[in-house]
Amino acid sequence: MKSPVRVTITGAAGHIGYALAFRVASGEMFGPDQPVILRLLEIPQALSSLNGVGMELEDCALPLLHDIVLTDDPAIGFREADYAILIGAKPRAKGMERSDLITENAKIFAAQGRAINDHASPDVRVLVVGNPANTNALIAAANAPDLDKRQFTAMTRLDHNRALGQLANKTNRLVADITRMTIWGNHSMTQYPDLGNCLVEGVPALELVTRDWAIDHFIPRIQRRGAEIIEARGLSSAASAADAVVDHVRDWALGTPEGDWVSMSVISDGSYGVAEGIVFSFPVTCAGGEYRIVQGLELDALSHSRLKKSEQELLGERAVVEDLLGR
Ligand code: NDP
Repeated sequence: MKSPVRVTITGAAGHIGYALAFRVASGEMFGPDQPVILRLLEIPQALSSLNGVGMELEDCALPLLHDIVLTDDPAIGFREADYAILIGAKPRAKGMERSDLITENAKIFAAQGRAINDHASPDVRVLVVGNPANTNALIAAANAPDLDKRQFTAMTRLDHNRALGQLANKTNRLVADITRMTIWGNHSMTQYPDLGNCLVEGVPALELVTRDWAIDHFIPRIQRRGAEIIEARGLSSAASAADAVVDHVRDWALGTPEGDWVSMSVISDGSYGVAEGIVFSFPVTCAGGEYRIVQGLELDALSHSRLKKSEQELLGERAVVEDLLGR
């Protein structure tokens, strides 16, 4: 029997956390032979609800779930974590500017970065979901000076999966027939879902759909999909966000399929001319628990301008939190 993997989930009593915890505990993230220990972290006001989540997890009698820790103390929540999934964040309140939201959440993610630095496994891998996810990941990484910034990522996998779904519908193929989809940039309206390198059953996607459809329908639909779900459901996406967390961490841990890649927001190393040091979504391959940004893709002028727009937005977000980027 393998020794258990410790997975910390923050905001675990929230909508996404509730949809996620059971899937991690049932083996969907790390496979059917990998036991897990769940360390679920919440704010004090949500502890009662978190206890309910703990009871339901117990009641599932999941053979892979070796222990559950429920806490509001980050020192306990992040203790020896192999994976930390940071979902808990303040939602945007009425009348709040985006910069206010960034500043409010920045404090949370600075504190969590410090706690991860001090209590998690030195090899911890971190996925930030709470918005603004890319900048929150940057702040957490900056506040964890003993860790490599490559250990911190943010989630653009839901955008990636949404793009697969829309293209599969349009081309009347299965999502499994599609490879090399890419989301570039920030997890925001400036993200750039790019069909330029995408293949459908090995055929370039742009030979199967028109450029006009890609620009006028596909890109804005992916950018606005979150709002579309809120309008339909009256609540933001939760199950699909949890599903994307499972995909992101599973691929990072266990590897991406040969010949394909996934989209992950990672610390920029300057690839494709993107400013170094911001957390930006790139196409990546994963193997042996490490990711590598796919190199050498051709980008046309339109793509370059879209990447620049998202880069500029992230540089602007970084400027808002400048004073929290050090311990
Ligand atoms: P959700 O579980 O629905 O969402 C949590 C975060 O994920 C939000 O920031 C949300 O952003 C973000 N998110 C990122 N991608 C997506 C996506 N594709 N779809 C939907 N959300 C996305 O929020 P809840 O309010 O239900 O739960 C949050 C929990 O976090 C609560 O239980 C609360 O107690 C806890 N919390 C913990 C904190 C801490 O640990 N210090 C601080 C604050 C809250 P967006 O708002 O843009 O939808």
